Amino acid sequence: MAHRSFVKEARRRVAPKKARVVPVLDRLAAEHADAGIALTFRNELELLVSVMLSAQTTDVNVNRVTKTLFAKYRRPEDYLAVPVEELEQDIFQTGFFRQKTRSLRGTMTLLLADFGGEVPGTMEELLRLPGVARKTANVVMAERGSPQGIVVDTHVRRLSQRLGFTKEDDPVKIERDLVKLVSRERWAVFPHLLIWHGRRVCDARKPACERCVIADLCPASRIEVAPWAPEPAAAR
Ligand code: SF4
Repeated sequence: MAHRSFVKEARRRVAPKKARVVPVLDRLAAEHADAGIALTFRNELELLVSVMLSAQTTDVNVNRVTKTLFAKYRRPEDYLAVPVEELEQDIFQTGFFRQKTRSLRGTMTLLLADFGGEVPGTMEELLRLPGVARKTANVVMAERGSPQGIVVDTHVRRLSQRLGFTKEDDPVKIERDLVKLVSRERWAVFPHLLIWHGRRVCDARKPACERCVIADLCPASRIEVAPWAPEPAAAR
């Protein structure tokens, strides 16, 4: 219910989204130079497992669990070698542990059966893995430097709506809007910039517009600032 309010927030007149997206991303990149994936992993298998475990919980929580998990489970076989209850216990603190255990075991089984125990290289192959949805596959591909889309999580959804980059509410439709708007070389960094800005400044309930570096570019800003205007040369 609450998310509807993002769409309804008062809108100031600003330049069209196509003109604003580059300066928005440039400023966010300068502001959050450290923005990147917050999960800790040493290889692609650990990346895949971390992203699968991160559903419905925080990256900090996942990192706490995987610190010991990855010392014990190093190869796909290791996830299948223990009783189901033991794996459930080992990931219990990430929540939804039964479902996640099922997904992990199904994924490891398929990795061994069809991919020689390696994490597969394409989006289509990743999507075949049990419990691996588009968001998970997108994160894995982006971290490999080969983004196939834009990861849409709760922060990306909220900020994209506030910034007027989309009017949609469904993550798949939001992604469709964003890939048309954002240049491909920025697909991987885009979610990180919005996630970090969302965490640090543009809070869901209390956005700190007064210290936001893109307030003049944001139609949902709650402070009065002179709206940004493109340079005449850039204004076609
Ligand atoms: S101006 Fe306010 S609503 Fe817009 S991005 Fe910044 S913090 Fe969020």
